[in-house]
Amino acid sequence: MPKSDLILLAMDESPILGLLERALHASGYAVSRAQDSESLDRSLLETTPALLLITQTLNGKNGLDLCRIILERFPTLPILLYADHDDNALFKKAVKVGISDFLYPPLRIDDIVNAIVHTQKRAERMGDWVRREVRRTTVSLQQRVDEMETLVKLGGTIQSTLDLDSVLTSVVTAAVELTGAEEGQLLILDDQTSELYMRAGRNFEENFARTFRLPVKDSIAGQVIHTGQAVSFCQDSPNKIKTSFLVYALIYVPLRIGGQVIGVLGVDNRQNKRPFTQHHELLMSVLADYAAVAINNARLFETSEQERAKLDTTIASIQDGVILIDKNRNILLINPAARKAFGLGLGDLTGLPVLNAVTHTDFVGILESISENPLKHHEIAFDDGRVFNTQYVPVAEIGAVITLEEITHLKMLDRLKSDFIHTISHDLRSPLTAIMGYVELLDRVGPLNDQQKQFVRHVQNSAQNITSLVNDLLDLGRIEAGFDTRKDEIALETIVHYTLDNLNQQMVDKNQNITLEIQQNLPPLRGNPIRLRQMVDNLLVNAVKYTPAGGSLTIRLLAENNQIIFEVIDTGVGIPTVDQPHIFEKFYRASNAPKNTPGTGLGLAIVKSIVENHNGRIWLESTVGKGSKFAVVLPASTAEPEIAQ
Ligand code: ADP
Repeated sequence: MPKSDLILLAMDESPILGLLERALHASGYAVSRAQDSESLDRSLLETTPALLLITQTLNGKNGLDLCRIILERFPTLPILLYADHDDNALFKKAVKVGISDFLYPPLRIDDIVNAIVHTQKRAERMGDWVRREVRRTTVSLQQRVDEMETLVKLGGTIQSTLDLDSVLTSVVTAAVELTGAEEGQLLILDDQTSELYMRAGRNFEENFARTFRLPVKDSIAGQVIHTGQAVSFCQDSPNKIKTSFLVYALIYVPLRIGGQVIGVLGVDNRQNKRPFTQHHELLMSVLADYAAVAINNARLFETSEQERAKLDTTIASIQDGVILIDKNRNILLINPAARKAFGLGLGDLTGLPVLNAVTHTDFVGILESISENPLKHHEIAFDDGRVFNTQYVPVAEIGAVITLEEITHLKMLDRLKSDFIHTISHDLRSPLTAIMGYVELLDRVGPLNDQQKQFVRHVQNSAQNITSLVNDLLDLGRIEAGFDTRKDEIALETIVHYTLDNLNQQMVDKNQNITLEIQQNLPPLRGNPIRLRQMVDNLLVNAVKYTPAGGSLTIRLLAENNQIIFEVIDTGVGIPTVDQPHIFEKFYRASNAPKNTPGTGLGLAIVKSIVENHNGRIWLESTVGKGSKFAVVLPASTAEPEIAQ
């Protein structure tokens, strides 16, 4: 014991103080003194004494209470209690607090020194034990930390690599390292042969691992497959666990995917007899789970790759163009037909903004107006005469798909049909005028009987119908050909009022009510007054015609962003969704058009042509049985529209 050890005396002024100090000095100790709890605190922190000797009370405070607090902060500090007399009850309490020894009068110098030496020795032994324990715990903690690090690293590898071989080899390597085993293997069940083969191994000869096959029947690995329970053992004589080698100790844990055991992860010792622990078995189970996750990921990836390849082939072989874009309008996929349509070559376009790759004006226009124009069908016309029908369909979570269907041949047919109709209509006009004229003359050349008069009326009605059909057709031809070059400043609300006046009687007859929502001070339009009247007329006539008696109509006229918005809303029969894309085609009548309602299916085709000739847009929203809304947007006169020539 180094004689310079410091003994801290915590005591009030007392006759024994001098005796103690002398005795301790004489035995070679350094001595310092604290007279109250504050100076005791300070001394403990500043001087690190080898032992504390404290009296039963210190400056009025209970010595044992002070010791309790001190030992919480300095648990290894040896403390000697100096009691006023031999007091068993006090000593029992002191032992509970953790006091090392006691002194009480009468004091002898030998007793003092012996008690101090004895207490210090005990404290030293305690210190040695604590240090040993700390070292042992540190080693075991370090081991756990190493294990955790290995597992975390392995988890990261599984997440980041798709190379199953390297992941499984890492799992087996980790199993060998964490258990300290001689060798490790990952066996997978071959369902066809009911044999296990080695998918990954550690410390096995390569050739052995490659050719290794173990029947499930009568093998320990097979038992794990069957029962789904881990197996571990250790014994003095080596056990022949497989047809090919003997081991002293092993752990086999099952590899499960979706509740099914698909293989076994194992480690073993063939040379030494070192046993494995339960903790090793636990680690092996975690590693087996890792391996199962990796195998499952690889299988899922393989399946999704196969599906993707199938989808790629399908989309590539579709004759229509397909472009898939994300929410930021970057290309996710573009098939050969779409590349061919826009002449985009073979370069990789994935990730490129679609409007950088495809710069055709019609295409750009469609994408730019898509948010405000809910129409899904658009046309893209190329200078070489090709025409594509384009559909833009939003795809939830992804973005949108744009399809392109070539309709050049249909367009050509349509043109031929129009030309043919135009010629026929033209040629029909003169004979029709003649028929109408002569029929009117019939009763002037001689009296007709009642039946003859009835026949004449039939002839007149039919000729009138044919005449309006022919007029419609000729109008359509003229509008489509762009012959209407007349441009006037027009107040659309005046046309609306005029048309409504004409329709008033029909609405009264059908007991329909009408609501007008016409904004004040609407800007005028520049356009052809005859055609715009035709447009308003057709839409309002339809609304009255296709709305049953008692229904209601709303007409809305407003200006927004230099545009006039004209809406005709009715509570009529509505238009089935399947008919909606075709409703503006010539001669098209919806499948639910009431049988007794006359019509040719030309009105809306005329309306659409007029709207387009005025650089406007038209669309419809309709629900069968609830009603329809036809919306027309035309540029206001301040927006200086160009009427197509
Ligand atoms: P039609 O001479 O048949 O009225 P249109 O071209 O004006 O021809 O209209 C085409 C078809 O659209 C109609 O036959 C009818 O089926 C449908 N339709 C037009 N307007 C309405 C409407 N307001 N409500 C319900 N269906 C309508």
